[in-house]
Amino acid sequence: SVPLAFFSGIGAASKRGILLKGGLAIEGLDNVKAVVMDKTGTLTKGEFVVKEVKSYGKLSEKQILNIAANCEQSSTHPIAGSILVAASERHLQLVSPNRLEEISGKGVAAEFNEGTVLAGNAELLELYQVAVPAEVAELEGTVVLVAIAGRFEGAIVIDDTLKEDAKEAVAELHGQGLYTAMLTGDGESAAQAMGNRVGVKRIFSKLLPQDKLQRLGELRSEIGPVLFVGDGINDAPVLAGADVGAAMGAGADAAIEAADVVFMNNTVTAIPKAIRIAKATGMIAK
Ligand code: ADP
Ligand code: MG
Repeated sequence: SVPLAFFSGIGAASKRGILLKGGLAIEGLDNVKAVVMDKTGTLTKGEFVVKEVKSYGKLSEKQILNIAANCEQSSTHPIAGSILVAASERHLQLVSPNRLEEISGKGVAAEFNEGTVLAGNAELLELYQVAVPAEVAELEGTVVLVAIAGRFEGAIVIDDTLKEDAKEAVAELHGQGLYTAMLTGDGESAAQAMGNRVGVKRIFSKLLPQDKLQRLGELRSEIGPVLFVGDGINDAPVLAGADVGAAMGAGADAAIEAADVVFMNNTVTAIPKAIRIAKATGMIAK
């Protein structure tokens, strides 16, 4: 049976936009030692905007953007969305590929009459053995690399912004004596820039969905029970595998379903708030 105190905890949380799915969520939150957060959509707004297009070959910046947009037409990734918005603002005519493959955590590979076009991260280009000049690693932000027929042609720099309360929330978690980490599939430079700004203790970048679960397991054996907070379809297995899984209310349905806790107002400060409520409730129940 659920102790009466849990109901008051659930009620107090719901008034603050925090959905606790039962007494186990409260007990779990009361016991966590580490909070691991996904970057995109959890610590950041997940609103990507194209900031810069760079050509490293003979093509114009407009052509680079057009080619990337051709590849991203059917992708639902927020990165794809920002590229399509930028292309439409510049009134670019899109061409459909003959064949297309979206590779999870890497990007898109598409067949056009000109050959295979890649739009994605360094791992995608590595997979197709396309060499990328070293200076590209210095671009700050989320970078989409574009290659045509085995040649690197350009890069699109995309910016996301931190949620206003991300830094404050991480400081509060530290004040509660908790360890913090950030996980992301994004590249190292974008991950370091965001992670350092919010002040998390550890940053893991370039992770594939299955890597995220493994890192979580490592942190659990090192620190103790882990709360994972995510938002994407990719995050569902990690949410289920964490001691407590929490999802942002604006996240994917699969993430919300897999979560024990949902932050309806999408704020980061809801995390320490939920833990505070769980601790207060736990004390009454004990
Ligand atoms: P996150 O962990 O930030 O939610 P994902 O696992 O969805 O990220 O993707 C990881 C990385 O894979 C992205 O940061 C990007 O570099 C690359 N990527 C994924 N999908 C696409 C796409 N449609 N176009 C370009 N790059 C992509
Ligand atoms: Mg995500």
